[in-house]
Amino acid sequence: MRDLRSGLDAWRYIVRSNPGRKRLETYLPLLLSITGGLGVLPFAVLRYMQGQWTAAIIDTAIIGGFLILGIYVYRTRRVRVASIALSVLCVGGVIATVYLIGPHQVYWAYPALMAIFYLIRPRVAIILAAFTVVTLLPALLPLTDTHITTTVIITILVTSAFAFAFALITNRQREQLLHLATKDSLTGAGNRRALDTKIADLVNSFKRDNEPSSIILLDLDHFKSVNDVYGHAAGDQILKSLTEIINLRIRVTDSLYRIGGEEFVVVLDGQDLHQAAHLAEQLRTLVYANELVPDQSVTISLGVAELKAGESPNDWLHRADEALYRAKDAGRNSTSLSS
Ligand code: GH3
Ligand code: MG
Ligand code: MG
Repeated sequence: MRDLRSGLDAWRYIVRSNPGRKRLETYLPLLLSITGGLGVLPFAVLRYMQGQWTAAIIDTAIIGGFLILGIYVYRTRRVRVASIALSVLCVGGVIATVYLIGPHQVYWAYPALMAIFYLIRPRVAIILAAFTVVTLLPALLPLTDTHITTTVIITILVTSAFAFAFALITNRQREQLLHLATKDSLTGAGNRRALDTKIADLVNSFKRDNEPSSIILLDLDHFKSVNDVYGHAAGDQILKSLTEIINLRIRVTDSLYRIGGEEFVVVLDGQDLHQAAHLAEQLRTLVYANELVPDQSVTISLGVAELKAGESPNDWLHRADEALYRAKDAGRNSTSLSS
């Protein structure tokens, strides 16, 4: 499971396999830019009308910041940098208005701090929230009514604590959701949906940078008879052990998927046919050497294919499948390459 650092990170991975995914992950930063900008706008207008130039300029700068970041997100669909910038704008805007306009502006701290807990990692957000409170203290302390000052500070802390807990819980729930959506429940390997996303990503990036990528399609030999002899539970255990063996051998940039009953795919990011064939042979001999069932060697057959220019994800998988069939035809426990 990837380390999901913020709500946005989790969303990014969840929506990857859906059409329109880029639009979905931009919703929150866009919404914040629009509501933030529109929220400050009436005050900016009022201050211009009343000739409060400092306040008017600060408000205009904040609206400008929201506008620029909103346009940036809308046009580039890039949310990571914009989320950090929006968090800084929210916190910086609150601190600036409290110091330059007056302590009653502290009410803006509530929506600003709520927003940052969704935009950036909750643990970073709590540090930013603590920094905001500490920075605001000198401006709030001279308030004549200490009861109000205390209430303001405590309610900000309570709001931040709640937002922190809420962000942590929702991030964890999204991680679980992501796990269910992308992992095979028996082996923990990626599932077919995750493979489709991965392969589509590689085909797209190949068009940009021409970096090679390869897949190894592998299938357990005569698995039906293994099941028949040793039982379905033993068969399941073999599938789990096979996953462990492969995971221990592949590199961190490679990934493993279970796409059928006893059929797996290893995706080798940045590896050509020659390198993939080398790994395939290593996996074949490893599985052969491991006694997955007593007194009988369980074997695999493998088909290897490197992505070709102009090829679709389906064409690529199809070539690996043809190579796998050739390996089966060649007597199993063998590797075949698609040239
Ligand atoms: P081949 O060498 O041609 O691949 O022969 P095979 O017996 O492996 O292939 P076949 O497609 O005839 O049978 C696949 C078997 O895999 C059938 C089924 O019993 C077994 N199988 C599929 N999914 C699971 C699973 O989740 N658990 C277990 N234990 N067995 C499974
Ligand atoms: Mg089989
Ligand atoms: Mg099969």
